[in-house]
Amino acid sequence: MALFGYRRKEKELENTQERLEAGLEKTRSSFFGKLSRAVAGKDQVDEEVLDNLEEVLVTSDVGVKTTLDIIGRIEERVRRDKYVSTKELNGIIRSEIAELLLSSSADRPADFNAPLPNRPHVIMVVGVNGVGKTTTIGKIAHRYRAAGKKVVMGAADTFRAAAIEQLEIWAERAGAELIKQYHGADPAAVAFDTLAAAKSREADVVLIDTAGRLHTQVGLMEELAKVKRVMDRQIDGAPHEVLLVLDASTGQNALRQAEVFTEHVDVTGLVLTKLDGTAKGGIVIGISNEFRIPVKYIGVGEGIDDLQVFDRSAFVQALFN
Ligand code: GDP
Ligand code: GDP
Ligand code: MG
Repeated sequence: MALFGYRRKEKELENTQERLEAGLEKTRSSFFGKLSRAVAGKDQVDEEVLDNLEEVLVTSDVGVKTTLDIIGRIEERVRRDKYVSTKELNGIIRSEIAELLLSSSADRPADFNAPLPNRPHVIMVVGVNGVGKTTTIGKIAHRYRAAGKKVVMGAADTFRAAAIEQLEIWAERAGAELIKQYHGADPAAVAFDTLAAAKSREADVVLIDTAGRLHTQVGLMEELAKVKRVMDRQIDGAPHEVLLVLDASTGQNALRQAEVFTEHVDVTGLVLTKLDGTAKGGIVIGISNEFRIPVKYIGVGEGIDDLQVFDRSAFVQALFN
């Protein structure tokens, strides 16, 4: 029986960074491939290299504003240091992106082991169809369970036929309880029931799944507001967190969804999924630089362990390793 478990903790951390690096492989190889073409035959960072770099960043889905922020910083550096060789460029881009990200917000990485401010702590998960809401709920539940917390899920996606069964499978995997009604039931009623059950069972965490919807479906955005209102009637201040899930592989579209969703719902955190399957991982840099709402988690695979707490410095490190 281990007494301290420091070595194991160290191992777990290494494992986390490795998973992150593996998940970002496509983004990384695409970015560095473009970067090496951008500086080919050049030994000094000049206007032309900067123009090429701009193109590399924009086509890596970093977004125009953030690209200009990064280029501005590098220009400044070139002015200061007079001669900057293209060999140094990697290191400079890395440190400028890291500084940009670390200076733009003071949000701290989430911690599943930290004491929760509310009991139960209620999290509602929203987003368009297929972005990974249900999967993310399963992964989050797993992490809270591993931290010794009691988790209840509410199947408030009553719209899609297989949605309840899918969440049921995740509840079993994660060791969470599931509150459900029937296909077609009122999602607000499911949310209400779930919170009542969570209170009486003294749960620590509640995760509410919702049906995918487009921001253009006004009625559905209103439905979301209703689900939210009903929860507050059951538990004061609930939901305490509203996570908007975005599919990173949709690139700039994800940014647009974030803009419009946050106009209708008080989103408290963002989740960017499917980073493992895309070269558009630069979107994470753009969103964390431009959005006032913090990126809280990222998804790097379909498995239960493929959720990562978003940590700006770990992200930059993984991208440039
Ligand atoms: P929902 O409609 O928003 O609830 O989305 P689902 O949770 O049903 O996920 C849609 C699909 O995306 C499923 O096939 C998931 O396995 C997949 N998916 C979710 N998250 C990730 C991820 O981080 N990486 C990968 N590769 N696939 C994911
Ligand atoms: P699909 O054709 O089955 O993919 O479904 P649509 O997204 O076209 O929706 C069909 C109808 O159901 C439309 O009138 C939508 O407004 C409505 N609808 C879609 N999603 C939801 C939902 O989550 N809740 C409710 N109550 N209605 C929905
Ligand atoms: Mg779902």
